[in-house]
Amino acid sequence: MNTPIAIIGAGLGGLTLARVLHLHGIPSIVYEAEQSAASRAQGGMLDIHDYNGQLALQDAGLLTQFQELILEGRQAMRILSPDGSLLFENPDDGSGGRPEVQRGELRQMLLDSLPAGTVQWDHKVAGVRSLGDGRHEVSFTNGRTVTTHLLIGADGAWSKVRPLLSAVMPQYTGMSYVETYLFDAAVRHPASAVAVGTGQMGAPVQGKAIMAHRERHETLHTYAMLARPLDWFADIDFADQAKASARIAQEFNGWAPELTALITDSDTIPLLRPLHALPHEHRWQRVPGVSLIGDAAHLSIPNGEGANLALYDGAELAKAIASHADDLEAGLHQFEQAMFERSAKVAADGEKFYELLAGKDPASGMINMFQDAETS
Ligand SMILES: Cc1cc2nc3c(=O)[nH]c(=O)nc-3n(C[C@H](O)[C@H](O)[C@H](O)COP(=O)(O)OP(=O)(O)OC[C@H]3O[C@@H](n4cnc5c(N)ncnc54)[C@H](O)[C@@H]3O)c2cc1C
Repeated sequence: MNTPIAIIGAGLGGLTLARVLHLHGIPSIVYEAEQSAASRAQGGMLDIHDYNGQLALQDAGLLTQFQELILEGRQAMRILSPDGSLLFENPDDGSGGRPEVQRGELRQMLLDSLPAGTVQWDHKVAGVRSLGDGRHEVSFTNGRTVTTHLLIGADGAWSKVRPLLSAVMPQYTGMSYVETYLFDAAVRHPASAVAVGTGQMGAPVQGKAIMAHRERHETLHTYAMLARPLDWFADIDFADQAKASARIAQEFNGWAPELTALITDSDTIPLLRPLHALPHEHRWQRVPGVSLIGDAAHLSIPNGEGANLALYDGAELAKAIASHADDLEAGLHQFEQAMFERSAKVAADGEKFYELLAGKDPASGMINMFQDAETS
């Protein structure tokens, strides 16, 4: 326990793990591929749930700081039909258990909570190998090599640590998002801003949807979702903004202009995000000295839970390590078994959303889903 635990990946999972370990006096080093905290935009808003993500932030002693990041009104939800008419609206009265924050701000809060030097930037894992006695050697593309008694893969979908435990690789789910941003929308794109409302908007039909969020500074962040094979997207040149936007918008021909403008008026190049997933029941036999958390362990099609599970895994693993100082393997086993159960259940629940989207009347299905969630 006196030598640092090696955590690969400074995403929400890895950073929460490092933070909660730190609170228990256990040293760790987080090795991150990116050059710095600012080297990549961190994506959009996340709703952090009172039954998992917020519990982890409480364990991390960061609940008060988290509450300061919450964007008011963003839990509002509206469902529109393709012609722009309102089918359902659920305003944010401030009492919901899923407040929204910007992912980048949440990550920065976790980074700021760690002792200086905990995160080693510009450390992209090139390979990992077992030294046979529970220890592992990690080599980085910058030429460095480290040896550790406990290696945790928190390195996301394409984890380099996962092969030590499992040969399973994520598979394409058949759906992709195309991501766009409209900045300063209240002034520059007022019709689209009204359509999105104060929080989140979804306009689904069978096999496709336009979903958008109002982020900080009146930014509208849109995911156009299409159930198309990867080779369909391969024919689109996403570097050519005008052509790519027009091709994606063509899939929404006849839809209200304030909805298609979320794609065609983008201030950024449309970004293709193919959605991959591991099987719901992904699990492995224990291998001494190594484990996985977050997407590395249980990548699923986005279902509003992935970031929450990553936070929760990080906190749970740290507590398991801290409470099993004399038998680390028992702690890791206990942690993994609980993680397998909760991630399989969440993935199966989350997939219902995509089953709805694939069905004939996804708007009614989504409305029922939100109403059920409100009453449960
Ligand atoms: C389009 C989209 C929308 C989503 N929306 C939501 C949402 O609204 N709510 C929600 O809860 N979840 C959402 N998710 C899921 C969520 O983003 C993930 O589940 C969550 O980020 C997983 O956290 P993580 O820490 O496990 O991995 P990540 O956030 O992926 O972090 C992994 C880290 O590891 C680093 N890394 C990767 N490879 C290496 C390497 N070889 N060497 C060193 N470092 C490496 C990466 O740079 C990164 O910093 C969404 C996902 C997608 C794709």
